[in-house]
Amino acid sequence: MEDSTPANGQNDSETAAPACRPGCAACCTAPSISSPIPGLPGGKPAGVPCVQLDEHLRCRLFGRPERPAVCGQLAPSWEMCGTCDDGGVHARRYLARLELWTAPGA
Ligand code: SF4
Ligand code: SF4
Repeated sequence: MEDSTPANGQNDSETAAPACRPGCAACCTAPSISSPIPGLPGGKPAGVPCVQLDEHLRCRLFGRPERPAVCGQLAPSWEMCGTCDDGGVHARRYLARLELWTAPGA
């Protein structure tokens, strides 16, 4: 989400934040987004890929003011993205758990 765009591989060091991985898009899919997104004025439900993902799973709105602020706040991290490129499996599980924990009434 922070970077569906330049997704360009993983850092060598596990102490620095990882780079967003190409083709993952877990954080543009798993979480719900309550703020308006072009094409989704009511936001996005959890588990649904954002309509602003392009055919390479990159954000069409990256760097543009229409991109929801929350998208820029969810930065890649080892905790969220996982330590190896597993196609987003770890991240989707992590984000689905986070979604449950932060759901209203949870
Ligand atoms: S979970 Fe991590 S690797 Fe996957 S799209 Fe989000 S920031 Fe990128
Ligand atoms: S607006 Fe862009 S960064 Fe935000 S969820 Fe959609 S595709 Fe991902």
